[in-house]
Amino acid sequence: MTLPALSFALTPLTLAALVLSPFAGSLAALVGQRLPQGRPVVIARSACDHCGATLGPFELIPLVSFAVQRGRCRHCGGRIPIMLPLAELAAIVVAASAAFAFYGWSVWIACALGWTLIALTVSDVTALRLPDVLTLPLAAAGLLASYRTGMVTFIDGAVGAVIAFGLFAALGFIYRRWRGRIGLGFGDAKLMGAAGAWVGVSGVPSVMLIGAGGALLAVLATVAITRQPWPRHRRIAFAPWLCLAIWWVYVVGPLKLVLF
Ligand SMILES: [Zn+2]
Repeated sequence: MTLPALSFALTPLTLAALVLSPFAGSLAALVGQRLPQGRPVVIARSACDHCGATLGPFELIPLVSFAVQRGRCRHCGGRIPIMLPLAELAAIVVAASAAFAFYGWSVWIACALGWTLIALTVSDVTALRLPDVLTLPLAAAGLLASYRTGMVTFIDGAVGAVIAFGLFAALGFIYRRWRGRIGLGFGDAKLMGAAGAWVGVSGVPSVMLIGAGGALLAVLATVAITRQPWPRHRRIAFAPWLCLAIWWVYVVGPLKLVLF
């Protein structure tokens, strides 16, 4: 893959992405939360998960409404999931880093990737699921984006997608035969396929390394903080780490092997 040149230019396209990013984060959180539950996403107006009250315009302002309402519903006092402001913040970080790494419409293409990764993260954290309606179009979009951004060629993206998907699907299959339970879900393999389409063959090893390293550190940190051994059958949400790794490699580039 060709590395993005990091520089910042505030064009109208970049400004629009930055201004709209917190709203994109709200939408990503909504999509990630509702898709695995089979609930309608766009048609239904936003409502409180506890009391069902329809939220007014003020209650839909990202971050501000959460801060002013101290994380609680104005109608029933029920807790607003912390996932919502976190997704809104993450979406701002996505737009800001895209603004540094890309220019023109490529900023928006990168944001589309980053905001979809946020929806996938929310979905995996809340339901341990990665809906096909997100991963499969993301893979196709990665191949199409190659024409616009010039970061990877179409062939590079296609080969990267096949290799990454095949490797993860094979790993998941071997683990399932060996341990008799699911370690790596098929959804993770599809997400890796999408990653390959976006970062190309040369980016795939870095995504795997950063993703696996992050997940391992999270498990070790949890064990250290709780002073409890990791339960044998407890699955961890792996996709958030893969999503973080995909974004890192897309914006900063693959890891460089430093030998000296
Ligand atoms: Zn409520």
